[in-house]
Amino acid sequence: MTKQKKYVVWMVWASIWPASLVYLYLWLSPVLEGNRIEIVAFIILASIVALFPLQIGDHPVFFTQGIAFAVFLYYGLFIEIIVSQVAILALMAKMRLGRTNLHRLPINLFMFLLISVVSAGIYYALGGTHGPSAVSDIGDAIPIVSYALSQIVLNQFSIKFVANVLYKKEIKWNDRGFVWELLTSGLVLPIGFVLYIVYTEFGMSAIFFVGIPFVFISGMMMLYHNSNQVNTYLRETSIIGHELTGKLGVKEVLDVFVDRLSKLLPVDYIYVYDVKKDKRLELIRFFDRSGEIDFPNIQLSMGQSISGNTWKGGESVFYKKKSEWSHLENQYTPDRAETVLSVPVERNGEIVGVITIYSTKKRAFLQFQFMIVNILGNYLGVAIDNARHYEKTKAESERCALTGLYNYRFFEDHIVNVFEINQQQENVEPISLVLLDIDHFKRVNDTYGHESGNEILASLAKRLHEIVPEHGTLARYGGEEFVLLLPGYHQEEALETAHSIRSHITQKPFLSHLHIHESKEPVSVFVTASIGVATYPDHCEEAFDLIRQADRAMYIGAKQRGRDRVASYKELIQTVQ
Ligand code: GH3
Ligand code: MG
Ligand code: MG
Repeated sequence: MTKQKKYVVWMVWASIWPASLVYLYLWLSPVLEGNRIEIVAFIILASIVALFPLQIGDHPVFFTQGIAFAVFLYYGLFIEIIVSQVAILALMAKMRLGRTNLHRLPINLFMFLLISVVSAGIYYALGGTHGPSAVSDIGDAIPIVSYALSQIVLNQFSIKFVANVLYKKEIKWNDRGFVWELLTSGLVLPIGFVLYIVYTEFGMSAIFFVGIPFVFISGMMMLYHNSNQVNTYLRETSIIGHELTGKLGVKEVLDVFVDRLSKLLPVDYIYVYDVKKDKRLELIRFFDRSGEIDFPNIQLSMGQSISGNTWKGGESVFYKKKSEWSHLENQYTPDRAETVLSVPVERNGEIVGVITIYSTKKRAFLQFQFMIVNILGNYLGVAIDNARHYEKTKAESERCALTGLYNYRFFEDHIVNVFEINQQQENVEPISLVLLDIDHFKRVNDTYGHESGNEILASLAKRLHEIVPEHGTLARYGGEEFVLLLPGYHQEEALETAHSIRSHITQKPFLSHLHIHESKEPVSVFVTASIGVATYPDHCEEAFDLIRQADRAMYIGAKQRGRDRVASYKELIQTVQ
């Protein structure tokens, strides 16, 4: 939330909340005489219950509603408001909001005040009364049930409203926190009702007989929920782990990691670093929930900043608030960061990366979430390793080892793809192909040796590579044959490229060595090539035809006519005609 918004929240609260309480006090004129001790006991009870919230995402669900319900039935709206508001203070104190999140206090106080007033309004409108005889005949059921239902409905709506308007977060109707809120209301409101009945019968002792078991129920619910939550997280983590290790590309792995982690935990920033060969930690992935920071170029040395420290120490760290990490050099740490989890990513006993996540809230993560990040870090290490291995093997299988160019296997798949994509477009574009065969290469081998032939092939590939246009794809198609695919090129443009390739090859000699002799003395070898050009859709209809026609142009138009020349398929047809 922006600073301005927070300011507005405080201003609205300060101008309405205190005045509303005074006004309600004067209007409702609650009777405090003789009830003080009981009221204080209820306030204490409600505040203790508020200390056992269920933390679901960043939303706490608490059970005070039940106590407040009993108080409302007996003492009326004003005392109910006091009990609820003090309980909220207790809850907020327990959550230790910190300065950046303090604005949640006025929002909650105000929200609950509104719920109290509106549901009481409904209660009174339906004829509800207070005191020991508030529940005396069956007709009282209508205002009481309506009050309980309006509490539930208003509560759900206000959570959605606040999330939507103030935090720009969409809460789905089946959100876990939302469902828990609904279920716990269904439990605590009836208990509140029982508390009221027992209180009217037995007075103060009801607070012990019903109130204390209620505190235990809250505590047990919290424990149950926590362990249940750990299970849910572990299940989720295992699913993410499988997803990660199933990905084949490094980029995909990182995409999935950041996306899932940002949904799993209340993180504001995620930094994923990779340990580079030159012993630097380089940022390879970054996430900022607010979208305010662009990808920062960060390179850390060992021990530098929080992540560099994790790398150096080799151990995961968990800082719960800024004062715990502010002694570290931290020019790269986001300004508003408070809680930090930083874990090393290990592979075969070696640290290969660091994951550091931040929240702008203090104590934003629980201990088991720290474990979860460690587990995910391990999965990430394995997944990146696999993906890198796969990408390397794939790249190798697509390339020729001698020249480093694409091989024919890759090229044949590629040309089919290019044709397919072209066909799907609205305006079909021309595609040209330049095919080149070195002249009398056998002679080169025979004169200087096979190794020398290899050296020349490699240098020639390099020369070709230097002049490949931006969208062109160059490949070694056979022994001493090369192809250049030029999507979007008309025949004339392709011929121009072919001529420039020819002169690039013939202009200056290739430096090699006389491998055939012991001396292996350096030699410079002049080489020429015969080049054929064909264009789609002028000369063919499909991908492999384009290769065939360029080959024909090369063989008939260039080789047979004396080599060292460029020929197009068009000339060939014209000659035949
Ligand atoms: P032309 O194409 O002009 O008709 O004559 P050429 O001598 O180039 O004939 P051809 O295309 O039939 O032969 C290709 C030769 O290229 C055969 C082989 O010795 C040589 N060659 C093919 N691949 C390699 C390679 O990887 N390394 C070396 N050194 N030579 C190769
Ligand atoms: Mg050949
Ligand atoms: Mg040849």
